[in-house]
Amino acid sequence: MLLPGEFLASLRGTCGFREDSFCRVHTTGESVTSLRLNPLKMTENPAGMALSKLEQIPWSVYGYYLPERPSFTFDPLFHAGCYYVQEASSMFIEQAFCQLTDQNRPLRVLDLCAAPGGKSTHLYSLLPENSLLVSNEVIRSRAAVLKDNLIRWGTERAVVTHNDPRDFIRLEGFFDVVLVDAPCSGSGLFRRDPEAIQEWSPKAVDLCAQRQQRILADIWPALRKGGLLIYSTCSYSAEEDEVVMDWIGEILKGENQVLQINEQWGICETSSSLGCKGYRFWPDQVRGEGFFLTCFRKPGEEDPLPVPLKKNKNQLEKREKQLLAEWINTSGMFLFRHEQTVYAWPELLADEMAFLLQHMRVLYSGIRVGELIRDKLVPDHALAMQNRRQPQWPGESLSPEMAVRYLQRKEIITQGTNKGWVLAEFQGKSLGWMNILTGRINNYYPRELRILKDF
Ligand code: SAM
Repeated sequence: MLLPGEFLASLRGTCGFREDSFCRVHTTGESVTSLRLNPLKMTENPAGMALSKLEQIPWSVYGYYLPERPSFTFDPLFHAGCYYVQEASSMFIEQAFCQLTDQNRPLRVLDLCAAPGGKSTHLYSLLPENSLLVSNEVIRSRAAVLKDNLIRWGTERAVVTHNDPRDFIRLEGFFDVVLVDAPCSGSGLFRRDPEAIQEWSPKAVDLCAQRQQRILADIWPALRKGGLLIYSTCSYSAEEDEVVMDWIGEILKGENQVLQINEQWGICETSSSLGCKGYRFWPDQVRGEGFFLTCFRKPGEEDPLPVPLKKNKNQLEKREKQLLAEWINTSGMFLFRHEQTVYAWPELLADEMAFLLQHMRVLYSGIRVGELIRDKLVPDHALAMQNRRQPQWPGESLSPEMAVRYLQRKEIITQGTNKGWVLAEFQGKSLGWMNILTGRINNYYPRELRILKDF
């Protein structure tokens, strides 16, 4: 892998940059593989490896390094949402979130540039009780992937929006925490994706830096006073990191926040000319890829959060509720329908979710339970991925081969005697629905999610 001279020259003088070892890690072909467990669906053997033998990532309670890169595609537990394959350095947002927020009260958290959902699924696992996560993505096709990943994670307190950052002006002072994991020139991922090197240029860096400032200026009003902004990139360029960090301090008047880090982690604490601190991850010094993160608080006395409007009660009839209670634990949930589709929202977040529905382009919220058709429920895939579905619902345990066939949406056979809507399960984790009829099994794994490769 040949790193452009212009690129290397641009990094000279940057805090923590050691040219020789930096070049070396880009030529050895070594790569670091890591994943993060889903606390809602704990597993003892992610990707077929015994958890007890895996090394933990020091800055994340759910993060683990793997000794090699297995085939995640053919691990049914990956599709069950038991873990997310994620680059180790970027799991550092856990430190920012946990060290700088009050974990004893509900928070409203926005992940502004969220697709494909690495940091959203991570934040979701860290939320205090009764908190709300809004995951936003401006590019439509990427927003669809984000939605699928959150459904797989089994969320119920999340909303997926598809908006431009400037649309969030409609939610002034709404969020306690905003994460801007900004689109960037991507140099931090060159080791993994050498083709991206061709797209790097000083001009691209400048354009990214301008865009980053625009995004931050657009979203700043949506953060409440006293709220926390986490800004991160996977670029090494100071123009996108320290310079933007100073800009947040100088122009937005953000108050820079310091994190406690363990020296042994190998993270480089960088200071800007204005004295702001940020955290740089260099791949020759940490086990992970390039990453940058800095945190700011919005100045001012904490305002009470704006009270959302009362929800529009598009309630269900009593018999419909009784029917749904067979499928989903409705305690603490607000059920409503939009045409035939039934959704469940946590009651304590229903006003906020209704408010978001009024003001933003919402792609998904709460749990999509299914379609009510002539007094029968056709259950949604999201319900199968959810811990809230009724535990007595029958499931059929599939062998590894049969589980992969199920995920490929091929014909399958099972050993059991269940009939009707049954969960396809692997090692006790749900993969999706099947409808077992006499002599035939209809595979309801969503077509758009199916594995296309052959085993
Ligand atoms: N946070 C994600 C994760 O952890 O999986 C990765 C986000 S990626 C670094 C940046 C995201 O910003 C991309 O999904 C990209 O589509 C989105 N994006 C691109 N242009 C944008 C813009 N002008 N405003 C907001 N987001 C943008």
